[in-house]
Amino acid sequence: MPHAAKSRMIDRLLAEPALIDAHAHVGADAAAFYSGNYPYAMTAEDFVLRMDVTGVDFAVCFPLVYTAYFSLPDFVQSRFVRCPGNLSPVPYGFENERLCQEIYEAMPGMGERLLPFAFFDPGREPQGQVAALESLVERYPVFGLKTATSYLQSPISELLRGGRCLLDFAARHDLPITLHTAVIPGDPWANVFEILDVVRSRPDVRFALAHTCRFDRRALEQADELANCFVDFSAFHIHCKLAQQNHAAVAGGGDRYPADYTRHAAAMQAIAEAYPDTMLWASDTPGHQFIGRFVDDQTAEHWLHLTCEVRRETDEFRQLPDALRHRIGYLNALRFLFGRR
Ligand SMILES: [Zn+2]
Repeated sequence: MPHAAKSRMIDRLLAEPALIDAHAHVGADAAAFYSGNYPYAMTAEDFVLRMDVTGVDFAVCFPLVYTAYFSLPDFVQSRFVRCPGNLSPVPYGFENERLCQEIYEAMPGMGERLLPFAFFDPGREPQGQVAALESLVERYPVFGLKTATSYLQSPISELLRGGRCLLDFAARHDLPITLHTAVIPGDPWANVFEILDVVRSRPDVRFALAHTCRFDRRALEQADELANCFVDFSAFHIHCKLAQQNHAAVAGGGDRYPADYTRHAAAMQAIAEAYPDTMLWASDTPGHQFIGRFVDDQTAEHWLHLTCEVRRETDEFRQLPDALRHRIGYLNALRFLFGRR
């Protein structure tokens, strides 16, 4: 049943050129809410309304970061403690089920526009997560996997050790994987170069490195050289703001890809033209803006206050030449999602 539904979705995607958003979130994040962070939620229904407003045809979507596997009051304090009870027996067990139920059962029309990815934690109970994911893909069309290890303080290099079974699962079901990246020195969990080591070690899995590799030119070059590696432009506008601030969350000095980050569309065009087979257009909705904190490995808090208008990501994207938009907003997304067709 999920296979037939997946084939119908692929037929819709291939029917005519469309705009595909390669990175967005659907669901609720209680920890973001109680931390005072923004955003913290997006329903499938509201997301599709936004897609209609901004002219996006299809979108990859995954849960937000918090999973009920962890105790909520601890998670809010950046402590990672197993939650008593069985709300989510493994990381993202509950949230992945909830996402698929919302898209395919509560709001079945949304299943024609949304491509759910399941979230995972590379380091905690990987075998249990694989068992839950096997059951999920048996019942629902799932189009890929996603993790954001910075916020779980879970090293991405676990994918080369105990978490290897998660990559085996992805290879077995031909599912691509989107990975949150970082260059800030206090983030050993999602370091973009460690991520590239993982990508290099698994040519049988397709990966997308999120947030333009934080504008690191060496990371972009290395990603471009790997046939199984894509890079998404998610939350590009607020990353341009970070570059203008010379914030440590993006690469600085000679490490930064040279572009005029005061001009969103021009900077995006320069990067897309340099790596035309690698880049994916993506909004990160509702994370196209971020007001909140990141806690580093020294427990230092980095507060960010980055706002972005609802239409900004699509308005800027539409300033790119037609052929380039077709490439990063459609053709490359299809190659990432389904391999070479
Ligand atoms: Zn995101």
